[in-house]
Amino acid sequence: MTGQPAGTPYWDPAELPPQPQLHGVVTADVAVVGAGLAGLSCAYHLAERAPGLDIAVVDAQHPAAGASGRGTGLLGPRAGPALDRAVRRFGAVTARRMHRASQQAVRDVLDLCARLDVPCGLRPGEQLMATRSPAGLLALARQARAYRELGLDVPVLSPAGIRERVGVPYRAALLHRPAATLDPAALTCALARACADKGVRFYGRSPLLALRPGDLVGPELVLPHGRLYAGQAVLAVNSAAEALDLPVGTVLPLEVYAVATEPLSAAAYEALGGRAGHAVVDAVPLAPYFRLLPDRGLVAGGGTAAVPAGLAAPRIQDLRERAWMRLEHWLRDLHPDLARVRVTHRWSGRIGMTADDLPVVGPVPGYSDVWYVGGCGGHGLALSVAHGAYVAGALLGEPDPGDPLPWHRSHAPRLPLRGPVRPLVRVCVDAHGWAVRRVC
Ligand SMILES: Cc1cc2nc3c(=O)[nH]c(=O)nc-3n(C[C@H](O)[C@H](O)[C@H](O)COP(=O)(O)OP(=O)(O)OC[C@H]3O[C@@H](n4cnc5c(N)ncnc54)[C@H](O)[C@@H]3O)c2cc1C
Repeated sequence: MTGQPAGTPYWDPAELPPQPQLHGVVTADVAVVGAGLAGLSCAYHLAERAPGLDIAVVDAQHPAAGASGRGTGLLGPRAGPALDRAVRRFGAVTARRMHRASQQAVRDVLDLCARLDVPCGLRPGEQLMATRSPAGLLALARQARAYRELGLDVPVLSPAGIRERVGVPYRAALLHRPAATLDPAALTCALARACADKGVRFYGRSPLLALRPGDLVGPELVLPHGRLYAGQAVLAVNSAAEALDLPVGTVLPLEVYAVATEPLSAAAYEALGGRAGHAVVDAVPLAPYFRLLPDRGLVAGGGTAAVPAGLAAPRIQDLRERAWMRLEHWLRDLHPDLARVRVTHRWSGRIGMTADDLPVVGPVPGYSDVWYVGGCGGHGLALSVAHGAYVAGALLGEPDPGDPLPWHRSHAPRLPLRGPVRPLVRVCVDAHGWAVRRVC
């Protein structure tokens, strides 16, 4: 992958378990590669349901180094494509199950925070999917109709209903519940500590280089200073699937951006819904969104995304600077008191997007006992945790919790990422309806 994400996220570094580099030959019952929310949730649920299982977690850097530690912490339902598109593609019954599964995923994260007994900056609130643009109004109207027809409780808010919650002149909104805001890095690190408390071993600065089908004892994982032999393996590496050449289709590494501000004036904080812990996302995918912080600051994200693969480092840096600048301009327009607010943090992170907006959670083709989890895009806080728990159950041979959902699959559609056909990525992205405002 080209370079690494830049900037320092707003979140304070949290305590992590010891994580030596992996040297020599190591064995485990289960190897989890990738210590983000998906991998750690998998390790946590394995350790909880099968005490005594020997579990090793390896990460190229350390827990929370990926998207999980660099997110903006909006916890809310919704999974995969917008509901009206999900109905067209999968039918009403499946689309309803997808939405309900995403609501359950949010509840499960709220339960997990309570079980881990760490505050994680958690503030239960509502998530407004709002719009100020005609394109957004159309998208909202289509979705509102689909929610209504499926009997899902996602009310439409009028401008007055929105003003009661956030003082921004949005024209309409959908009200998503359950929802909350939290510190995603704190949650990821708390999960890592909880895993370690249950006996899970951690290896840091140990990137997986290659995966080989094992002859006798399951997969062989090749690392810079050693080998890891495991009965079963879970590759929770999200957008690094491409660099590892995993046969899971295209999980496109997209760089996305966020900024955080100094504490707002009491008036602006109150007006933007700070006390109630609301978060506002735009009905147009990847358009800017915001949430408030417990210290009265504001975090804004989205607006732009870049495909870093194949770009030179200076070009990537230039795209970042422009993306942060656009976000700053955008947030200064939110409320008169924000016109001169100081931005204290600017950062980027890599998400994994698939061409059809659906994650991939399934066995890796060609390898027995190896699973891949990833591709939740910019909306994977709740789902990644749910997927980790799901894979833990599958590895333990627990009865299937029900009909598979559309993201329970082994690969996503393929997109051309390299060579002269690279511009086709843009075409495919548009054709698949991401409606990305700027994919550079
Ligand atoms: C700026 C930003 C804002 C976001 N905001 C939100 C939000 O508000 N709400 C929301 O729901 N979602 C949000 N997301 C998305 C969410 O963070 C992700 O969907 C989720 O964290 C993905 O978790 P994961 O475990 O699959 O991947 P990651 O957290 O990316 O974890 C993958 C791990 O694999 C490791 N790894 C990679 N390659 C290798 C290798 N070769 N060997 C070993 N380890 C490897 C990485 O170091 C990393 O630790 C945001 C993401 C970003 C970047």
